Amino acid sequence: MQALVYHGPGQRGWDSVDDPTIIDPTDIVVRIDTSTICGSDLHILRGDVPETKPGTVLGHEAVGTVVEMGAGVTTVSEGDRVLMSCISACGRCRYCKEGRYGQCLGGGGWIFGHLIDGLQAEYARVPFADNSVYRVPDSLSDEQVLFLADILPTAYEVGVLNGSVRPGDVVAIVGAGPVGLAAILTSRLYTPGRIISIDLADSRLARAGKFGADTTINNGTEDALAKVMELTDGRGVDVAIEAVGVPETFELATTLIRPGGHVANVGVHGKSATLHLETLWTRDVTVTTGLVDTFSIPQLLALVAGGRLDPSAFATHHFGLDETMAAYDTFADAGATDALKVVLTGTERTAASTGQIAVSVAG
Ligand code: NAD
Ligand code: ZN
Repeated sequence: MQALVYHGPGQRGWDSVDDPTIIDPTDIVVRIDTSTICGSDLHILRGDVPETKPGTVLGHEAVGTVVEMGAGVTTVSEGDRVLMSCISACGRCRYCKEGRYGQCLGGGGWIFGHLIDGLQAEYARVPFADNSVYRVPDSLSDEQVLFLADILPTAYEVGVLNGSVRPGDVVAIVGAGPVGLAAILTSRLYTPGRIISIDLADSRLARAGKFGADTTINNGTEDALAKVMELTDGRGVDVAIEAVGVPETFELATTLIRPGGHVANVGVHGKSATLHLETLWTRDVTVTTGLVDTFSIPQLLALVAGGRLDPSAFATHHFGLDETMAAYDTFADAGATDALKVVLTGTERTAASTGQIAVSVAG
């Protein structure tokens, strides 16, 4: 099969590799119908993730069709269309039993395209299938559910739920990349009074307005703190969600917060950020951190199926799966291409959606 292979910092290829096979009885093999690229794939390519070894197939978000079953898998069948989560779960360890799948001790967690071969490929081996994949309702397209693999649950669990967004709240979201925009979308489920989006890029802020931000602030050209205080009669926001991952934005989030408010950090940080306890200690502020668990995927699927949540606006660019190399160029140059998420479609799915009959020959 063909797959997007990491060859060390700065190097990738669309290569011919061995087809995946069942290794453990809890595995399935899936034909990838629709996949996408994430900012963390770019981090791996920059060499920021040393545990990802050259030779690894990248990708951790996809929808596919089950083509092979391990003997121990009972909840999906051959031919089922499934969403693969960016987080796998052994289902047996202490953390999985708490629903903290991101912290899995039994070989799960973020493994796809990180510790094992991932999902930007024609086929993939999916471990712990019973605990880690979600059947997609027939009424929903691949593209409607694809972003429930990572950005939607990340923003919802680590931003909105950890931040305890409530009706009427003023919510500031720092960062309007895919995760910040997903935080806008999922905050709206709680009917906040006002959503303020803060970013350095006007193009991203324009998107934030379309996703439902009431106010946008470019903190490169405006004083974000002064503007937020003006909008909140000097109190500050009820919830501040940090969705960038640099010290400045975490520190900004903690200055925007009102007494009693919640600062929910979502960004992945590579450098220390300062927690100004000398100003915060009297303010009854809660600061949360978190790695996504994807426990909310069933809830998010129900919201999409019920027409209450529509993630399709994230799909700004479309490519064939065999054009993944070009898709990386477009995604990595978001400043020029204005890409949010690219959708990579496998040939069988392309044929099906254009009304051609997809014939597959086994073996
Ligand atoms: P992204 O890089 O696509 O978007 C970041 C946005 O922040 C961009 O729009 C950029 O213009 C803006 N930005 C950069 N510096 C800024 C600054 N100083 N002030 C204001 N805005 C600034 O990233 P993304 O894919 O949206 O992800 C956001 C963060 O979430 C990343 O750090 C990512 O690694 C992290 N993440 C965390 C988890 C988790 O489980 N906690 C999961 C997935 C992603
Ligand atoms: Zn586990």
